[in-house]
Amino acid sequence: MPRPSLFDRLAEQHAERARRSLVRRLRVVEAADGAYVTLGGKRLLNFASNDYLGLAQHPAVRDALIGAALQWGVGATAAPLLGGRRDEHAALEDALARWTGRERALLFTDGWAANLGTIAALIGHDDVCVEDKLNHASLIDATRLAGCELKRFRHADVDGARRQLESTPGPVAMVATDGVFSMDGDIAPLVDLAALCRAEQATLMVDDAHGLGVLGPEGAGSVAEASLTQDDVPILMATLGKALGVAGAFVAGSAALIDALVQDARTFVYATATPPALASAARAAVDVARFEGWRRDRLARVIAHFRGAAAARGLALLPSRTPIQPLIIGASDDALAVAAKLEDAGFYVPAIRPPTVADGAARLRIALTALHSGNDVERLVDAVARALA
Ligand SMILES: *Cc1c(COP(=O)(O)O)cnc(C)c1O
Repeated sequence: MPRPSLFDRLAEQHAERARRSLVRRLRVVEAADGAYVTLGGKRLLNFASNDYLGLAQHPAVRDALIGAALQWGVGATAAPLLGGRRDEHAALEDALARWTGRERALLFTDGWAANLGTIAALIGHDDVCVEDKLNHASLIDATRLAGCELKRFRHADVDGARRQLESTPGPVAMVATDGVFSMDGDIAPLVDLAALCRAEQATLMVDDAHGLGVLGPEGAGSVAEASLTQDDVPILMATLGKALGVAGAFVAGSAALIDALVQDARTFVYATATPPALASAARAAVDVARFEGWRRDRLARVIAHFRGAAAARGLALLPSRTPIQPLIIGASDDALAVAAKLEDAGFYVPAIRPPTVADGAARLRIALTALHSGNDVERLVDAVARALA
């Protein structure tokens, strides 16, 4: 038998994907202003943005970026341990630690780097990591990189997590969960998971990419909303590219945790530091997110308005009180068809298909932001109801 060809295999995989309506299509946004994007020459009301508070175009955030770029230039020029660290990075870490009520924080270039680097630095071949089935891909892949045993539990099922921990009493154990689930919008049972971890001497890690800025007092996130301290959730991770409207990520926790990551997190040690101007922009965004509470109030009104209007039209929503409001369609080709109809009607709501979500659970992931108005969501709900009719 001759050796199979890599590109022949890619062609077969592509054909199979196309047959199942699973081809992903990379599109370019031609303009972005407020809640609108222009795609394919058409201006669309955007319901796909994770910029929940509308900070990506905020003047203070933009000015911070420009000001720091004028001072520092663009690139950090080196890894943080080898001359790439600026006071912009330290100041941002301090602000993030204060905001989240943690002793210290450490910046990573993005959320993938934070999760891969952190989990692989802390646990290894002899250990176990227990994860919710709907956790973000980066948390799942991190356990592969760490080489530890991965045990998964049914979504939000704390008893399932308990059984997994009890079945492996020997090794050091970590339990990792999303704070807000990125494709479902629901919030993890954090209080019960923290109690379980305490009882089982496991260490809880929460990825709050979609909770930071949105939930809790001053937007400090799902963990703060649940009144969980650094002792309850020793490893808190969140990104700066969602509600903060910038880019990057951080891990927050004890000085001992951060010291360990500075030594051993390979995605921190061996990566060029975040551009200082981005750190400066993120710090400005933290201030706005934290202290302009009206943005969260407005977002809450938009979410309530959407859920009320959708219920009135008989749309089947999931139990989410966050900006992520999925509408399950089922088959991938149906979800694509509904998304296309919405685009024709002036709305950008892309279809989310397997393997991002389970087979048969393709959906519209409607993301609401403080940039939307009551009228915007009324029009969306109306268009969705018509597209489904
Ligand atoms: C977006 C996301 C990440 C990845 O963060 P990036 O900064 O975009 O790499 C990690 N975890 C969750 C839950 C996310 O939603």
